[in-house]
Amino acid sequence: MSGAHFAFTDRWGGVSAVPYEELNLGGAVGDDPDAVRRNRDLAATALGVDPARVVWMNQVHGRDVAVVDGPWPEGREVPAVDAVVTAERGLALAVLTADCTPVLLADPVAGVAAAAHAGRPGMVAGVVPAAVEAMVGLGARPERIVARTGPAVCGRCYEVPADMRADVVAVEPAAGAETSWGTPAVDVTAGVHAQLERLGVRDREQSPVCTLESGDHFSYRRDRVTGRLAGYVWLD
Ligand SMILES: [Zn+2]
Repeated sequence: MSGAHFAFTDRWGGVSAVPYEELNLGGAVGDDPDAVRRNRDLAATALGVDPARVVWMNQVHGRDVAVVDGPWPEGREVPAVDAVVTAERGLALAVLTADCTPVLLADPVAGVAAAAHAGRPGMVAGVVPAAVEAMVGLGARPERIVARTGPAVCGRCYEVPADMRADVVAVEPAAGAETSWGTPAVDVTAGVHAQLERLGVRDREQSPVCTLESGDHFSYRRDRVTGRLAGYVWLD
């Protein structure tokens, strides 16, 4: 899509040591802060993005959205939000994940982009519809929005207690799933796509990668102490 850029990292190409090897982009997972800074520089440079023009979030599994027009001021606490939206071309928005679903959205015509962090609680709370609503507030139109979801734990791997699945399905039926071994599961990415479909966002693609099954990706459910992948979206 001309004008809109979407990128998802894997775990290789960085400087972090075990168990964060190699390209850990998460700053709150116990890794050496210098390594994380180096990795963020490496990842941005590889994408042709200015590392100083990337907006990160303090993600808390909620549905709050921040509208931004530049990076957070140096030395101030990064707000606790799970989606960021911008109308600033050239500003990259980043979302950190290790099993949760990274959601990147862009309306290249309006020049509006969003990045959202949708784990099970965030998907149920509606963080993705909240991000779309904020985009519309800046002039985006759902039928022009391009949506890309990145590597995430799949519905055949994300086992949950039966009552938890029932709670999720009560809100989002499309997220009901079953593990490959026949127990209750949740498919967060399917839930996100169902939400976007209902909002009229039809240009959608989903990464085929399951983080828990892939040795090339960080997975919290598999490894517990591990790194974070990032998804980036920006507009020319
Ligand atoms: Zn899987």
